[in-house]
Amino acid sequence: QPTNGETPGSPSLNIAVVGAGIIGVITTLGLLHAGHNVTVYERANDYFEVGAAMAFTGVARECMQQINPSVLEALQRVGEANRHPMNRYWDGFNPATKDVAQSEKSLLFQQSARELDYTGCLRSIFLREMAKALPEGIVKFGKSLESYSEEAEGVELRFADGSIAQTDAVFACDGVHSKARRLLLGEDNPASRPSFTHKVAYRAIIPIANAVNALGEDKANNQCAHLGPDAHALSFPVAQWTLSNIFIFLHDPKPWPDPQKMTLEVDKSEMIPSLSKWGPSIRELVEQLPEKVFKWAIFDMADNPADTFARGRVALVGDAAHASSPFHGAGACMGVEDVLVLVSVLEKALSNTSGLSKAQAVTAALQAYSTVRLDRSQWLVNSSRDMGEIYQWRYSATGSDPSKIKAEIESRSRKIWDFDVYQMVAEAKQECERKLKL
Ligand code: FAD
Repeated sequence: QPTNGETPGSPSLNIAVVGAGIIGVITTLGLLHAGHNVTVYERANDYFEVGAAMAFTGVARECMQQINPSVLEALQRVGEANRHPMNRYWDGFNPATKDVAQSEKSLLFQQSARELDYTGCLRSIFLREMAKALPEGIVKFGKSLESYSEEAEGVELRFADGSIAQTDAVFACDGVHSKARRLLLGEDNPASRPSFTHKVAYRAIIPIANAVNALGEDKANNQCAHLGPDAHALSFPVAQWTLSNIFIFLHDPKPWPDPQKMTLEVDKSEMIPSLSKWGPSIRELVEQLPEKVFKWAIFDMADNPADTFARGRVALVGDAAHASSPFHGAGACMGVEDVLVLVSVLEKALSNTSGLSKAQAVTAALQAYSTVRLDRSQWLVNSSRDMGEIYQWRYSATGSDPSKIKAEIESRSRKIWDFDVYQMVAEAKQECERKLKL
């Protein structure tokens, strides 16, 4: 059922959400649930997500439930958990024979799957499933944000097609190459643009039977990571165990040719030189991929983090605020946490009775959001970069030593899963209270 955004008696705002990606749609559902009027401005002509898979942690799902139960319900309808109780990490490089590669002999270490507690889904399917809960016409497609200015009566947004919109607040969810970030931080600010992480991902979705050919029944039917020098592979079943999502990540010391074009369709033979000395499972996995695969340049904000996620009545949310590489599998999860904080501080600020104007209340709320979210989300961006190096045996403290790698991954992942969502919301509301008094 569409959420109509009515919560009788609660003060509401007219809010513009820029970007109808995963975080933009979750933000919109959260704001509607809190009783605000929302218009979403999306550059593309329809919902767009790549046909790859992604996963959400237990912490992110807890946030979804609080943001708007329809977000979690959508994920539950289209998502699935790993069947195996352990997340297993395999040696993709050393096994000399297929028997060894497919057996427990190539297991480096394992971790309980219950801790991070992932639910996986196909990105495009999850996005469309969530969008079913949006009221008709709320998303204006073909609207590319060009500029904005803050006026006394609100924020004026200007789009590439010449149209203009007025709003009380702007939540910019326009992704890793965010235009809103450049406008908010300034074109000359190094934090306005993400940097190439020197990792590329080749991705494809193949029938599960093809994954079984390369990896064997057990590995193909469960999430598994294969580690090795300068590369790693991540595979997991999707679509009710009928398909396998394959990511092969390579280290790439060269600069990325075109930072505006992050995905290229390439011949899979491009990967072969980097993987020619790898074990038989990974070499066969490449054989099972279609001839043309998508190559995805991984950009993030680790080199130049933003010093704030909000100015005035405009906030950056999700990748627009803290784009991360995917090696913790939690970039979008951080965006989900952002949304819970945003709706909570807005509620707090708008219920204040100290005689502040709407603009002052919104500004205080967004400052509180930024203060509370900076550390954790930027820690994730940095740690995720390290995780890429750890998986690819390039991290000097762990090398290729399985017990050191396990300890390192566990202590980092603990920070993601040992997280008290209620505490985060309480801190955000306290911070908002402080900002309201300034
Ligand atoms: P986006 O998905 O980039 O959406 C931005 C939207 O804004 C788009 O629709 C775009 O068209 C629109 N837009 C852009 N510019 C404008 C403009 N000027 N005006 C209007 N609209 C505009 N995270 C996880 O939590 N778990 C995972 O398992 C996971 N796996 C990943 C695997 C890979 C290979 C990668 C690269 C990332 C992965 N991530 C994962 C991270 C996750 O993909 C991102 O954090 C998430 O997609 C960010 O969503 P977003 O809505 O902020 O941005």
